[in-house]
Amino acid sequence: MAEDLHARYMKADAARRAHSRTCTGCSPDARCEVGRRLEESFERLQDAYLTRLRKS
Ligand SMILES: [Zn+2]
Repeated sequence: MAEDLHARYMKADAARRAHSRTCTGCSPDARCEVGRRLEESFERLQDAYLTRLRKS
């Protein structure tokens, strides 16, 4: 289960990196709507993952 969460976390990280590499609407300070969504889902998964790490 923890492994599944980690895999999703890594996937979200890869997705937001791939997006910011190719998207002309994103910059480090401001993201386009898609970039914001990718960033938010990455942050949610990161929180969940880190919370689980602390608990175990
Ligand atoms: Zn973008």
